[in-house]
Amino acid sequence: MSSPTYPALSYELYPPKNAEADDSLWTTIRRLEDTRPDFVSVTYGAAGSNRETAIDLLRRLLTETTLKPLAHLTCVGSSRAELTDIIDRLIGGGVRGILALRGDAPDGVDTHSDDVEHADDLVRLIREVEARRTAQLAAGKVSVGVAAYATRHPDSPNLEQDIEVLLAKEEAGADFAITQVFFQPSDYARLVDRADRAGVTIPIIPGIMPLTSTRRLKKAGALAGIDVDQDLWARLEGARTDEERRTVGVSATVALARAALDDGAPGIHLYTFNEHAAALEVLDALDLERPPEAGLAASL
Ligand code: FAD
Repeated sequence: MSSPTYPALSYELYPPKNAEADDSLWTTIRRLEDTRPDFVSVTYGAAGSNRETAIDLLRRLLTETTLKPLAHLTCVGSSRAELTDIIDRLIGGGVRGILALRGDAPDGVDTHSDDVEHADDLVRLIREVEARRTAQLAAGKVSVGVAAYATRHPDSPNLEQDIEVLLAKEEAGADFAITQVFFQPSDYARLVDRADRAGVTIPIIPGIMPLTSTRRLKKAGALAGIDVDQDLWARLEGARTDEERRTVGVSATVALARAALDDGAPGIHLYTFNEHAAALEVLDALDLERPPEAGLAASL
C-alpha cells in the first residue's frame, strides 16, 4: 500500500541582528517547530555579510531543535575557494540542505567572481564538494534547492530565459526550487506550466509571504521587481483597525496559497520575517493537511 502524500510545509528565517532579535527569533522558532514543518530555511547575506551568524543559527537549529535546516548560500562576490570552504563547513556541521543562489551584490562590493558566477555554477560546486565527502554523508545526501521566479527576474530579458536558467539549475543537480514572492495566482500557474513544457521536472514550491503589512509588501515587491496588487493594497490601506488589516491580509494570503496548491504545488514555503503570528494564522486558515509525523517530504 502506498503511503499518502502531504503538501510540504517550510518557513524562511533570517539570522538575528542582535541579542534582542535573537530572543524573539527563538520564541518564533519554538512556535513554528510545533507545526512540524519539513524544513526551515536560513537566509544568507550576499557576499557573506552575516556568514557567522547564519552558521551559528544553523548549528543551533541542528543541535537544539527537531527542525531540519536548509542553508541559503550565495555565490556573488565570493571566490571558488571561499565557497568550497563554506560548503565544507555546512556539510561537516551536519547541514543536509542548501539553497544555491547567486545573490545580489551589495553596493560597493566587488562582484568579480571566478567561475562561480551564477546559481547553476554553485549547484555544481556543491555537488563536487559533496562527492568528495561521501564518507561523511552516511546520514544522507545533500538536497540542493534553487530559486525560481513566477514573475520575470529583474535581470532577465524575458520569462523564457528564467525557465532556461531553471532547467540549467536542474541539470546542474538541483532537487527542488522555491519561488520568489508573487502576488497573482496566475503567475505561479504560468511558471509551472512553462517549466513543465520546457522539461523541468523538479518540484517548484511557491514562496508565500503573509500579505498583512503594506510596508513589507512594498519592500518585497520592489526586491522582486513586481507591482503590488492594487486591489489588495486598497483593502489593506482601507482597513480601520490592525485586526481588520490582518484579517484582509491573511485571507488574501490563504487565497494565494490555496490557488497554488490547487494548481499542483507540492507544498508551501512561508516567508516569516522572523515572526510567527501571521505565518501561523495563515497556516491555521489554510488548514493544510499534515502528516502524523514530520519529514514525509523526504525528497526536499
Ligand atoms: P541566478 O539563477 O544566477 O540568476 C540571476 C540572473 O542571471 C537571472 O537574470 C538569470 O536569468 C541570469 N542567469 C542565470 N544563469 C545564467 C547563465 N548561466 N548565463 C547567463 N545568465 C544567467 N538573496 C540573498 O542575498 N540571500 C538569500 O538568502 C536569498 N534567499 C532567496 C531565497 C529565495 C527562495 C529566492 C527566490 C531568492 C532569494 N534571494 C536571496 C534573492 C536572490 O539572490 C536574487 O533573486 C538574485 O538576484 C538571483 O539569484 P538566483 O539564484 O536566482 O540567480
